[in-house]
Amino acid sequence: MKQLTIISGKGGTGKTTIASNFIKLAHDHIAVDTDVDAANLHILLKPEIEVKKDFIGGAVAKVNDDCITCGKCQELCRFDAISDSTVKIKIDPLKCEGCGVCEYICPTGAITLVKEKQGQFYTSNTSFCKLIHARLNPGAENSGLLVTTIRNIAEDIAYAENKKLIIIDGAPGIGCPVIASLNGVDFALIVTEPTLSGISDFKKIYDVAKFFNIKMFACINKFDINLSNTAEIQKFCTQNNISLIGKISYDENVPKLLSQKKFIIDSPQNPAAKDIIKLWENFDKIIYE
Ligand code: SF4
Ligand code: SF4
Repeated sequence: MKQLTIISGKGGTGKTTIASNFIKLAHDHIAVDTDVDAANLHILLKPEIEVKKDFIGGAVAKVNDDCITCGKCQELCRFDAISDSTVKIKIDPLKCEGCGVCEYICPTGAITLVKEKQGQFYTSNTSFCKLIHARLNPGAENSGLLVTTIRNIAEDIAYAENKKLIIIDGAPGIGCPVIASLNGVDFALIVTEPTLSGISDFKKIYDVAKFFNIKMFACINKFDINLSNTAEIQKFCTQNNISLIGKISYDENVPKLLSQKKFIIDSPQNPAAKDIIKLWENFDKIIYE
């Protein structure tokens, strides 16, 4: 069983569009949406939820009315999560790392560590494969832990059902969820576009991905809007041992199809559809060989 993570360094490059069309084209596979802060793969895949579970993240300190405002916890909190108050201290749940120091040192036992529900994760059925996806509560931390949780579920199902491939739609950016979506996979596909910001984000995500020692591929979306920037991306790929596996033409039909919640490949006469199908065929040979 192989795992492919599709990443982009930033939103808006067409990463999820490519991931969703791959999911429709692939076979013997499972899909994972690791964009747990703003998932949108479900818009096209229309999953029917089979199993829903609460995601309980790390513990957060809570203070009760036994606080005598001695200030010891505030003094010792290394994460600056505790602030003054005249009646009892205040703990910022977004800064609290759940280390437990305050609970340990509090002379009146006014602090306890509480585990809270931080989101939900789902195993769903789609017309093409199972989809494992999640939703993190607004402001909740531990997105990396949630990504690892849903990836573990996908792996368990893939092994149990003898699947050949897990397709992971990575989160945008270069933070914790992206790192958790790359750990232990076989292939990473970086989707980029030939703009100055696209090139800069491409280099940033490459720097993150190279630490994982995985086979890296790149695909340039809308490659024909700026051929000189496309050439620069090609040069960077050659210099850094990234296999440029496909280029997708600018196609004015794409926004229209997306607004109608349609797959690009469902209109195979369009240039972008032809390019995505060819891109998948190139991957297919590598993944299922
Ligand atoms: S250590 Fe306990 S009593 Fe002292 S300020 Fe903190 S919560 Fe209140
Ligand atoms: S658990 Fe640790 S991080 Fe959280 S408030 Fe207490 S000392 Fe600070």
